[in-house]
Amino acid sequence: MRPNELNPLFASVESLTGVGPRMVVLMKKALALPPGVTEPRVVDLVWHMPTGVKDRRAEPSVAEAQPGTIATLKVRVLKHRFAPRGNARAPHKVQTEDDSGRLDLVFFSIDPAYIARQLPEGSERYVSGQIERYNDTAQMVHPDYIVPPERRDELPMLEPVYPLTAGLSGKVLGKAVRQAVQVVPELPEWLDPAFQEAKGWPDFASAVLRIHRAVDTADISTGGAPWQRLAYDELLARQLALGLVRLNLRTQKGRQIAGDGRIRRRIADALPFTLTGSQKSALEEIAADLAAPHRMMRLLQGDVGSGKTMVALMAMANAVECGTQAALMAPTEVLARQHAESMAPLAEKAGLRLGLLTGREKGRARTLLLTKLAAGEVDILIGTHALFSPDVVFADLSLVVVDEQHRFGVGQRMALQGKGQGTNVLAMTATPIPRTLLMTHYGDLDVSRLTEKPPGRKPIKTTMPSISRLQDVVDGLKRAVSAGAQIYWVCPLIETTETSELAAAEARHAHLIQMLGQTVGLLHGGMKAAEKDTVMAEFAAGRLNVLVATTVIEVGVNVPNATIMVIEHAERFGLAQLHQLRGRVGRGDRQSFCLLLHEEPLGKTAEARLKMMTETEDGFLIAEKDLELRGGGEVLGARQSGMPEFRVANVPGFEELLATARDDAKLVLSQDPELATPRGQALRSLLYLFECDEAVRLFRAA
Ligand code: ADP
Ligand code: MG
Repeated sequence: MRPNELNPLFASVESLTGVGPRMVVLMKKALALPPGVTEPRVVDLVWHMPTGVKDRRAEPSVAEAQPGTIATLKVRVLKHRFAPRGNARAPHKVQTEDDSGRLDLVFFSIDPAYIARQLPEGSERYVSGQIERYNDTAQMVHPDYIVPPERRDELPMLEPVYPLTAGLSGKVLGKAVRQAVQVVPELPEWLDPAFQEAKGWPDFASAVLRIHRAVDTADISTGGAPWQRLAYDELLARQLALGLVRLNLRTQKGRQIAGDGRIRRRIADALPFTLTGSQKSALEEIAADLAAPHRMMRLLQGDVGSGKTMVALMAMANAVECGTQAALMAPTEVLARQHAESMAPLAEKAGLRLGLLTGREKGRARTLLLTKLAAGEVDILIGTHALFSPDVVFADLSLVVVDEQHRFGVGQRMALQGKGQGTNVLAMTATPIPRTLLMTHYGDLDVSRLTEKPPGRKPIKTTMPSISRLQDVVDGLKRAVSAGAQIYWVCPLIETTETSELAAAEARHAHLIQMLGQTVGLLHGGMKAAEKDTVMAEFAAGRLNVLVATTVIEVGVNVPNATIMVIEHAERFGLAQLHQLRGRVGRGDRQSFCLLLHEEPLGKTAEARLKMMTETEDGFLIAEKDLELRGGGEVLGARQSGMPEFRVANVPGFEELLATARDDAKLVLSQDPELATPRGQALRSLLYLFECDEAVRLFRAA
C-alpha cells in the first residue's frame, strides 16, 4: 500500500481549488501522463516541468520602464475611460501614474464592472506585464497581474513558463501547480548523505519547490541542483524497480517446459522455407530458458519482417508438446486475426488446435471456445485484450507470448500471466532498442535478437521527394498501379486533434480516387474493428490497389504484395516510426519503394533524419542514430514507441547520473534487499512517488 502521506499527490487534480471538469480535460492534453493513467492527478502537475521563466523582477519607475520588457510597477489609479457602448473594438483604458510619469492600462472586450473592482480610482496597485509605448504614453495591455500593495507576495517575480494547450492559460495552470507543490510532503531522505552533500543537492521537497517557485533563474535550469536532484531520483527509482523485479524473477519458479520436438518438426516440415540463423539461435535461447526452473521473462527483438511470428509459434509448439497451453496476445484485432490466419495452415498440418478470441467473438461461439479452452481442447489461444477477461480460463497455461509488447501495460501482462502457474513470458517487439536504453528501461532483462532477415529480400529503395512534386509522384503511382503494384499511403500525423488527422486522410483519399480510380481504400483509427478488418482484407486480397491510412497500420500488418509506401509529411514522424512504417513493404521478392514526402524547407534535424532513412534499413543503426539526434535521455520518441518515458530525467549529464543510479541501486539491493533499513524505507516512498508500485508489490509478494 502506498504510504498515506502520499495519497493527496495521487488524488485527481479536481481536488485542487479552481480545477473543475473542464480544466481536467485541458490538463489531460497539456500534461504528459504515464501509460495507463487517464485522469491527471496532482502528482502529474508536480512533474510538469517549466520550460523557462518570465522574469518580473525589474521594478522600474514608469519613466524608466523600457518598451518590450516585462516589468512590475507600483502605480496610482487615476481614472477609467470606458469603451463607448456598441463599439466592441474600442479598448477600456485606465490611466495610472507614479511620480515619474503616466502609464495607461488597456483592456479589450472586458467586463468594465470587473475591471473597476480590480482598479478602483484613487487606489494603489502593483501591475506586472509587458511595457509598450503608444503615441507618447507608456502602456500595458492586459497586465498579467494586478494586486493591491498588501498582497504583493502573490506576484510570482520569477514565473515559471509551462507547456500549455489551447484554452489553458499559463496563469491558471501555474496556480494549480503552485497548489500541487504544497501537497508534496516532507519525506525522509533516501539519498546517501555523503553523496547528496558532495553534489550540493537540496532535499526532495525543496527541489520541487525551487523548480516551480524559482527564486533564481538557475533554479529551473536542467543543469541546476534542484532539477539534477529530481532527475537522479527518477533514475534511481527506475533502476531500483528494475533491480527488484529482477530479484523477484530470479527467485520465482516457472513451469518447466521441454517438449520432445515432435510438433515443431512437423511445423518445420510444412514450412516453405528454412529458419534463419537468428531464428534458430533465438529458439535455442528460448528453449533453454523454458527448460530451466526459473520463470522465463524474455524479450524477442526483431525488425519488422524478421520473422518473429515463426519464433513465437515454435516456442508455443514446445509448450503444447508438453501437454500445456500457450496464449498469443496482439494489440489489435487486425493483428490477432492475421496471426490466426497465417498460423492456421501450419497448425492444421502439425495437429495444433488454435482458438481466436477478440472483442468480436460473442455469444454461443465464445462460450463454446471458452469451454474447450477450460477443458484443454484448445492448444493455443490467439487474441487481443479480450484474453484478460476473467471468464477466460485455461486448463493449463504455461507460456504467454505478447506481440508488440509495448502496447500493453505492465498490469495487463501480469493479468494474463496470472491465468497460469509460473507462466513463462515471451515479449516481442519490433522496436529496435539500443543497448544503453535496454539497460535503462529493462535492466538486464534476457534478450534475443533477430538480426538477420529472411533471405531473398531486396533492399527497399527510399527517396525523399518534396511535396511540391506531388503531381509527379501521383503520376508515377498511376503507372505502378497499372502494372499491378499495391501501395500504402500514410497520412500526416497531426498532433492537435484526431478529427483534423482524419480530415486530412479523407481529403487525400478523395484526391487519390480522382487520380487513380475507385480502388483506393481508407483506413483510420475512428473506424470500427469490423470495418477495419474488411478494408484490410480487401487490400490483402488485392481488390484495393491503394490503402490510404492514418498511422493505424503502424503495427505488424503483413501484405507481401504491397511494394510502395508513401509517407506524407514524413518530417513529422520520428525515425523509429518511419522505420516501422517502411517495414510494411519489402516483404515479398519484388523491388519495393518508400517515398518520404515532405514540406520544404526542412529543419536540420528533420533533414538528417530523412536522409538517414534513405541510407540504411538497419533498424538497430537507425535507433542508435535516432537517439543521437534526439540526444540525452529522450528515448526514441518514447511515447510513440511505448517505452516508459522519463518525466524529469532528460537532462545534461544523463548518462553519468544513470550510471551512478545504477550502481547505487545495485549496492542498495545487495545490502538491503528487503528495503528494511531506514534508507530502504525511505526508498520505498521514492518508488511510490515515481509510480514503480509494481516493483514494490512484486517485492512484497516475495
Ligand atoms: P515480424 O517479425 O515483423 O513479425 P513476420 O513474422 O510477420 O515478421 O514475418 C514476415 C514474413 O516473413 C512472413 O510472411 C513469414 O512467413 C516470413 N518468414 C518468416 N521466417 C522466414 C524465413 N526463415 N524464411 C523466409 N521467410 C520467412
Ligand atoms: Mg509481427
